[in-house]
Amino acid sequence: MDRLDAIFNPTAVAVVGASTVPGKVGHDIFVNILKGGFTGTLYPVNPKAKSVASVRAYPQISEIPDAVDLAMLIVPPPAALKSVEDAIAKGTRGIVIVSAGFKEVGGQGLEIENRIKNLCREAGVRLVGPNCLGVINPNSMVRLNASFSARMPKPGNIAFISQSGALCTAVLDFAADRKFGFSKFISIGNKADVDELDLLRYFHADPDTEVIMLYIEELRRSGAEFIEAVKEITSGILPKPVLAIKSGRTSAGAAAAASHTGSLAGSEALYDAIFKQCGIIRVDSIDELFDFGSAFAYKNETALGKLRRKVPDGNRVAIVTNAGGPGIVATDMTVSTGLRLAEFGDETIASLASHLPAAANLKNPVDVIGDAAQDRYENALGAVIRDENVDGALVILTPQSMTNVLGTAEAITRIASRSHKPIICCFMGVIDVSPGVMYLQEHGIPVYRFPENAAKAFGALYRYSQWLNRQILAPFSLAHDREKAAAIINGCIERGQTYLGELDGLALLQCYGFHTLPTELAADADAAVAIAERIGFPVVMKIVSPQIVHKSDAGGVKVGLANPDAVRGTFDAIVASARAFDPAAEIQGVLVQQMAPSGEEVILGVNRYPVFGPLLMFGLGGIFVEVFRDVVFRLAPVTRNSARRMIRSIRGIKLLQGFRGRPKADVENLERLMVGLSDLALDHPQIKELDINPLRVHPEGQGHTVADCRILLAPEDKA
Ligand code: ADP
Ligand code: MG
Repeated sequence: MDRLDAIFNPTAVAVVGASTVPGKVGHDIFVNILKGGFTGTLYPVNPKAKSVASVRAYPQISEIPDAVDLAMLIVPPPAALKSVEDAIAKGTRGIVIVSAGFKEVGGQGLEIENRIKNLCREAGVRLVGPNCLGVINPNSMVRLNASFSARMPKPGNIAFISQSGALCTAVLDFAADRKFGFSKFISIGNKADVDELDLLRYFHADPDTEVIMLYIEELRRSGAEFIEAVKEITSGILPKPVLAIKSGRTSAGAAAAASHTGSLAGSEALYDAIFKQCGIIRVDSIDELFDFGSAFAYKNETALGKLRRKVPDGNRVAIVTNAGGPGIVATDMTVSTGLRLAEFGDETIASLASHLPAAANLKNPVDVIGDAAQDRYENALGAVIRDENVDGALVILTPQSMTNVLGTAEAITRIASRSHKPIICCFMGVIDVSPGVMYLQEHGIPVYRFPENAAKAFGALYRYSQWLNRQILAPFSLAHDREKAAAIINGCIERGQTYLGELDGLALLQCYGFHTLPTELAADADAAVAIAERIGFPVVMKIVSPQIVHKSDAGGVKVGLANPDAVRGTFDAIVASARAFDPAAEIQGVLVQQMAPSGEEVILGVNRYPVFGPLLMFGLGGIFVEVFRDVVFRLAPVTRNSARRMIRSIRGIKLLQGFRGRPKADVENLERLMVGLSDLALDHPQIKELDINPLRVHPEGQGHTVADCRILLAPEDKA
């Protein structure tokens, strides 16, 4: 038995701090449990009251005559510590601390929270909170509303985990309006012990839960641990979709202008990467959470009597509508969410022709015309959903005088129960369509007010099915020279450097499979000419100064120098403009480098985060990164699969795939490099930031060349 059962399925609950004063949290929680119809036994604990809400009170938890498995504490920090000790002595296996004033206020609050956490750990007691709204289990066998929401949601198959207590009551209110049911509902507050990962695992195993919703402000687990565990939940043997809403979508260091990973990354990129990597479906608003929630909770019985989640096998959608305009909106949205309009087979068209009036559109979107009653919908939907070129349907209904709203809802439900393909409805309106909407909701069929919401939900289902069916590639076998790399890094650290010079940087990258160019440092113009003659003209020259991060900004890069005179002149010119740019900059010399063969310029980078580890970045170089910020992030380890998905997910990917006569770039080689870069970052925690900008990706089969690198060290962080 899971220890969290004491929290969600208790047989006896003590409310410590139950108050006789209505409106006080300690009173309301007690009454909410009582009125919610808890099927177990409830004990108020209050040393000053004889009874609370007519129920006999006990002065101490220890004086309760029977066993107690869950203690709800509504007492301020110093008293909470004592109550926790008492509850543990009483043998409770779960504790929920609702009160605030702990870690979030710091000082003594923090100290008490830590002591409580340790007490619970030692006793093997699970602790929820402090600073939370409580827990709810609407299952008719339990009916526990141990929260300060007066509203007990109806039972359903969605579990909700919230880091914000305040949001919970609003969500419960919205849920009631949308006839939404929950399997479990919990607010986790400060997460002293139980956190979202514990709960995701618990709900994954919970037979009542089909979909998990998560409102999260910050994760505290290591990224790799979280990703591995959640991947198993969203796509393992018993997959359950996880929908998450994360605050702070737009912060993202959006103001930063520079084009390196450190300024492009940020918590936003980090969370987005984590969610993508573990298959969590991110939503933008509470509305969308519900929209997607009803689509993902959508199941129907198979011939074997088992429930099967309705996810489409492909992205070909049939639209059946009684109004042209909304059909067009749905078509547009369908396409913009990654779906496409199905092309019907001849049989389907013939069947549609035999059932629909001459004016009807028999092609997708099928227009059954404004005067359609339920039979036309039934025939049309029946025909398209049978078509093997169709993966699911979107049914749009606008209330017109001939429309039979309820009859149509019944017809849709009948067809849906016979098909494994998802059928998503849009009944446009509020009052006139409500009998149909209610009927669909009661039968678990997703129904929306607007075609765009319906199409978006369908798109989310499709993306989830892609995630479930994703291809797993055999890993690359890469050989790295880890020792040599460590020696290079340690050498720099011993010299007291917080960065790797460009020459060391290139040598380090070579250890992990990067192809670099012959490059040497010249102290004066004569040396530069000698190096250029050795390397072969034309060459590139670059200023070397620890203070100059973006060399071109300082006029510190010149390419295509074709002869000794050009090299000699450029040496002086580069040094002069670097001095002018930053008179305080220490100039160590000028690099002379071979010209890189042509290719598409991309940027690769790493930025390390405490707890989470290295975040890798990929994007097209030049203006694509600077103006369009067309970059993608993934947390290490980046496997071959994630490298491939990462590269394919940038908007400009076409430029690497042979756009308008350009040669196709060596993307496979790039995938290897991403994996190599991930290995490099994981093997060497002293690397704090790394940028390769640009890396030139040559045509297919011809690999790549590093043209510039910048690596920062953080010797003290052993991550
Ligand atoms: P920084 O990014 O510090 O300004 P880079 O070393 O990236 O300096 O050089 C600026 C630009 O010059 C690069 O984006 C690239 O287009 C070009 N470049 C740099 N090195 C080479 C090279 N070896 N061969 C060809 N072009 C180069
Ligand atoms: Mg550069």
